[in-house]
Amino acid sequence: MAALAAAAAVLTLAACDIGDITEVAEAPWGTEAPASWQAVAAAPVPLTVTAYVTGEVFAGDGVLINEDVAGVPEGAGTEQWVPSVAYLVQHPSGTNVLFDTGVRAGECSYDILLVLNFPCRNQPGQDVVTQLARDGIDKLDYVVATHFHGDHSSGIGPLLARYDPVVIAAADEIAALKSPLRETQGYRYDQFSADMRIEAADAGWLPMPHVARAADLLGDGSIWLLPTPGHTPGHLSALLNGSDGPLLLTFDAAHLKATYHHTAPGGLGADLDRAAQSIERLKALEADLPGVRVLYGHEPAQWPQDAIRVSLAPRAD
Ligand SMILES: [Zn+2]
Repeated sequence: MAALAAAAAVLTLAACDIGDITEVAEAPWGTEAPASWQAVAAAPVPLTVTAYVTGEVFAGDGVLINEDVAGVPEGAGTEQWVPSVAYLVQHPSGTNVLFDTGVRAGECSYDILLVLNFPCRNQPGQDVVTQLARDGIDKLDYVVATHFHGDHSSGIGPLLARYDPVVIAAADEIAALKSPLRETQGYRYDQFSADMRIEAADAGWLPMPHVARAADLLGDGSIWLLPTPGHTPGHLSALLNGSDGPLLLTFDAAHLKATYHHTAPGGLGADLDRAAQSIERLKALEADLPGVRVLYGHEPAQWPQDAIRVSLAPRAD
């Protein structure tokens, strides 16, 4: 009966409209692969990076880390509230790039696989659009969607309405979003009711060490998108090549520091073998970049308690 009910839900929800998705080609992708990641890091760009904690989601047992992997401490995967973070990257050219949109304003719980509900909590004014407006951000050129789970993308509707940025995501992730079965992946139709212009990161893939390929979003070596599938079909991580030292953002390739350290991805509906391979690739990249700072997808210990805005690379001026 449960299977029948789920199938009926799919059919019902699949009938609901999402906004028009128009594929565009606007990003000035880099076209030549640097010789190495050290060569990339030798030419940093003065990026300003701001993290916005948009709310918290309640992750159940086994979602954040797989305790069955050897070496993972017992209790590491216990259910807990974790932050949902969006990152604004301001490039000196005036180009603004947002990574993820966090959770939406108001009631922000979301589902995965139709039946698994993730509770969510936030404060009034904590959503990313309100926080960007408070910081005087009047232009957004690109939103990189690492993936379309609710805790990373449910704030996208108001953001598209206000700024009309180009959404960048991996082709496999765009295909999952467009699929009539997107609800089974946890991609809720009502988050995507706004029309969007979207571009596949695959347009920028260059062969790069450790991660197989990477895309140089602005063509100057400042913002790199890294394919890290497994958590979802087209999940992306990122390397920000800022003047204060490189930042490696795993997003949900590794929810917690311990997930990364033990190569122990958890999650529902994930391809855990591919997810583990993605973590190993990020670790190889990290080992090649002395001084890189790693930020994990949902590590509570990385954020001051009650923080909603954290500057990661203050302006030199
Ligand atoms: Zn996720």
